[in-house]
Formats: sequence, C-alpha cells, structure tokens
Amino acid sequence: MKKRININFLCIAFVAILFTTISISVVFYEIFKREVIEDLKTNAEILVDTKSYINMEETLSISNPDKLRITIIKADGSVIFDSTANKTDMNNHRKRPEIEEAFSKGSGVDIRKSYTLDKNAFYYALRIDDDMVIRVSKETNSMFSVYKTAFPIILVITAILLVLCMLLSHYLTKNIVKPVEEMANNIDKTLNFSAYKELMPFLNTIQKQHKDIVKNAHMRQEFTANVSHELKTPLTSISGYAELIENGMATDEDVIRFAKEIHRNSNRLLTLINDIIRLSELDTVNSYITFDKVNLKEIAINCVEMLSFNAEKNNVKISCEGVDTYVYANKDMIEELTYNLCDNAIRYNKENGKVIVETIEEDDKSMLIVTDTGIGISKENKERIFERFYRVDKSRSKRTGGTGLGLAIVKHIIAQHDNMEIEINSEIGEGTQMKVIFQKK
Ligand code: ADP
Repeated sequence: MKKRININFLCIAFVAILFTTISISVVFYEIFKREVIEDLKTNAEILVDTKSYINMEETLSISNPDKLRITIIKADGSVIFDSTANKTDMNNHRKRPEIEEAFSKGSGVDIRKSYTLDKNAFYYALRIDDDMVIRVSKETNSMFSVYKTAFPIILVITAILLVLCMLLSHYLTKNIVKPVEEMANNIDKTLNFSAYKELMPFLNTIQKQHKDIVKNAHMRQEFTANVSHELKTPLTSISGYAELIENGMATDEDVIRFAKEIHRNSNRLLTLINDIIRLSELDTVNSYITFDKVNLKEIAINCVEMLSFNAEKNNVKISCEGVDTYVYANKDMIEELTYNLCDNAIRYNKENGKVIVETIEEDDKSMLIVTDTGIGISKENKERIFERFYRVDKSRSKRTGGTGLGLAIVKHIIAQHDNMEIEINSEIGEGTQMKVIFQKK
C-alpha cells in the first residue's frame, strides 16, 4: 500500500513539474513576443514621427542601439532601403505578410523562423504613406534555443524538485498509512479513529467480524473440549467393563450385565458421533441444499408414527392435529427438526403426559407447534438450551439418551432457512410449547 501511494504521489509530482515547466515557458515566451513587437512598434513609430526614414543612412550611423534591421519598401514591393543588406540584391517584398497587412491596414506583424531553428525573426511594418512602408525587424532566440541553453538548469531544478517530492511523498505516505496501521494493530479495541471518519463504517464491520471470529474460535475450543469430555465418559465405561471381562473378574451373570452396559455406552457413543457429524455438516453454509414444497402435516404424521412406540415406553400420549400446510424448505431438515422437538417433548415429559403436534396455516405463515405437558423450561434456561451440550438437567438428559446437541441442530436447521424462526413458550411444571414459524414469501 505504502509503495503504491508513494509511486502515485511521485507520478503526480512528475506530471505537475513537467506541466508547470512547459506552461510557464509558453506563457513567458508569449509575453516576451508581445514585448518585442511592442518595442519594434515604438521604434517604427519614432522613425515615422521624426521623419528619420528620409535620411536613413545618417540616422542609423547616429544610433541603433538595439541593432534593428530597418527596411523601407515601396507599394510595388521593391526595397528602397535596407540597413543590413544591399537593396539591389533584395527580391520583391510585396507578398511578405507584414508588408501586405501594413499596406491594407496601416500596420502589420509577422514572426518567422530563421533557417536554423535557433532564431526567430520579428517584423513590424508601418505604413508611412500610400506608397511606402517602413519595416523594423529584430532577431531573437527561439523558444527551442532558449530551452537548449536552459536545459541543464531545468534538469537540475527538476531533479531537486523530484528529490523534494520524494521526501515529501514518503512523509505524507507515512502519515496517511499511520492511522490505518494503528487501526489494524488495535482492531480489538474500541478506539475512536478520528483521522478517517469515512473508515469508521469499515472499521465497525471489521471489529464486528473480528469479535465474531474470536467468539467462534472460543466456541470451537469449548466445543472441542466438550466433545472430548462427552466421548471420554462412555469410552471409559466401555473400556472398564471390557477390562473386567478380559481379566476374568466378572461372573457369568456380570458378563451379561457388562455386555449390556458396553452395548448401551456404544450406542450412546454412536448417537453422539452422529450428532457431532450432523452439526458440523450444518455448520458450513451448504449451497447444495435443495428446497421444495413440503407438507408440514405429512411430516408431523410420520414423526408421530415413528415416535409412538417411544412415547408409549415413557407413558406419554402423542397425537397429531391441524391442517395440510405447505412450506418452502428442505424436507430432510424439517423431518429432523420435527423429530428432535417431539423427541424432547416425550423425554422431558411427566408420567401420563401428552404431546400434541399441530400444523396451522395463517395468511402469511405456516406453523408447526409441538406442545407438551412436561417439566417446562425456566426463563434463564430458555436462552441457553440451543447452545451445544447445554442441558438443564444433565443426568435426566443422559438417562433418556440425550446428547445435548438436539436443539443446537434445530438452531442450525433454522439458520439454513431464511423464512423460518422458532418461539418458545414454557412454564415450569406446566409444559412447553415450541412454535416453528414459516413465513410465506
Ligand atoms: P438433549 O439431548 O439433552 O435433549 P437438546 O439440545 O435437545 O439436548 O436440549 C437441550 C436441553 O433443553 C435439554 O437437556 C433439556 O434440559 C432442555 N429441553 C429441551 N426440550 C425440552 C422440553 N420440551 N421440555 C423441557 N426441557 C427441554
């Protein structure tokens, strides 16, 4: 960035120096040209006013400090006097622009380049009468030759200016970049960077992203620690029971009991690993997810059927109500979400409790509501139950085969659908209602 700003500054400086040098030279040369013409005009007028053109040879011998060339031309173009050349050698001057102009308008001006590019000849012609024109001329250095002589000086000045610009651009670049560097080094601090007000929205976004990254990293770390811990518990049991059998320390009766425990813990391990894999799949925003028109009622009926045996085992009655209502969603994910909510509603229910899965259609939304008559969730816990591995009652969750990841999966499924949200209404000891709302687009 620094290098780029520096180069840009230098380019601007170089172009500015070049442009200024050329434009100043042109302006000064224009002024100089005007001055020379003015001088020639004054000289011509003096010569005419004082009638000095009558005895030109004498007048010139008295004074010609500016080394002017004076020519007197007749209306037919013949030269009757020239101060520097023999008049007889001179060709017809009628067609010279300044002479033609002087005869027609009273005075005429022309600037001609000499044969070498080095000199310019300035001509001013003044009509004395209808038959005679006096022309005063002077040779000066051309702009090209002025440049030729001044080139080394211009070069030195340009070099000095460029060095100055380099130093200045280095200093300015440093000053421009400094607040940005300061910003980058203090991205996690809420400082007020007044240097660039325009960068504040950018900084706010970066700071927000930075906070999110730190938070995510922290969450991942916590998740890894939790996963390790959750995996370790059933594995320790499996290993312990297996070791007892291996060492012959278990009676025949024990072996069956230990095998049962190993089986239970292996299943728990499998469920846990499945949930972890599912969660990590849902964690990455997947562009291959397909969305279809899905009937919520159909999903609810299937889920109730699937869980009816489980409900019976827990002495809970599960039933389905409501109407056919269609939403635009990923069918597998909605099935998974409904299963998780109903499974929880059974597992956290009371003896002889009820679970109702209801599908409702309103003007602009469809709803899937899972209501249970279970233990309920306190206000503080409502905020946290969607966190990974968060359980209100850890032992009950484990006893009923929970992993602490069911609602985290639900949360991720909702995040993958931008038309979906969840609402919890719960009363401790009374029951819980999980309301999944689908906005119709
Ligand atoms: P788990 O596998 O432990 O059920 P979840 O993520 O599904 O994990 O749920 C997190 C916690 O939320 C549960 O441990 C439980 O304490 C609480 N919870 C979830 N659903 C209900 C419900 N319907 N009634 C009461 N508590 C619930």
